[in-house]
Amino acid sequence: HHPERSTVWVGPAGHRVPIGPETFTFIAGPCAVETPGQTLEAAQMAQAAGATVLRGGAFKPRTSPYAFQGLGLEGLKILAETREATGMPVVTEVVDARDVPIVCEYADMLQIGTRNMANFGLLQAAGEAGTPVLLKRGMTATIEEWLMAAEYIAQRGNLDVVLCERGIRTFEPATRNTLDISAVPIVQATSHLPIIVDPSHAAGRKDLVVPLARAGIAAGADGVIVDVHPDPESALCDGPQALVGSDLRDLAAAVRRIPPLV
Ligand code: PEP
Repeated sequence: HHPERSTVWVGPAGHRVPIGPETFTFIAGPCAVETPGQTLEAAQMAQAAGATVLRGGAFKPRTSPYAFQGLGLEGLKILAETREATGMPVVTEVVDARDVPIVCEYADMLQIGTRNMANFGLLQAAGEAGTPVLLKRGMTATIEEWLMAAEYIAQRGNLDVVLCERGIRTFEPATRNTLDISAVPIVQATSHLPIIVDPSHAAGRKDLVVPLARAGIAAGADGVIVDVHPDPESALCDGPQALVGSDLRDLAAAVRRIPPLV
């Protein structure tokens, strides 16, 4: 039913940002919301480098139950304040179907993470909510399983779904996951949905984030999402993959070099 590739619009009137084939969308922000100051500083760093959408986790799905789980509602409020201060629409993860209404109250886009890609109740709740969804690929999911997960959202009436390739599990231990660049053109040939890449969560190490982002750009991704932190050493979550100002400038230069669409 969708011969043309779709554009998904994120954010309130006056601050709406497109994600789709007509543009390249740069999304950045802290892995986890920690404090108002840290979130605002990360957002300003991201915005100065050209990012137009703010990411930030309030509900963190951590491998260890003893690791920082996010600030929850307080984190959502910080994100909303940061949107107020910067004008950047907010994407944040929801990990439980019961939290979908409250996350929709504070955020412009729901993120469904790799660990919940096949949580069908959550996908259906996000479909019913109608807020745009950023659907990450399950780290052990095939492309077809991922597209079927998107169908669970679409089936409930929400076609505003953006796919995010964030790396899959392979035998290679040098990176946390392997960014499957081939997923970008395969998805674009099979689906009308926009697709972006997340080199931060794929690699788990900051030295690979800019090269992998460039690879995503070269493969034709519709955008990139990266972690940023004003002081990665003190980060409560995924500090080793967080970019700082100078890395962001390299990434911004790579984004600027994208040839204009013809
Ligand atoms: C995230 O983006 O904060 C995150 C946890 O990503 P993923 O689900 O890809 O691990």
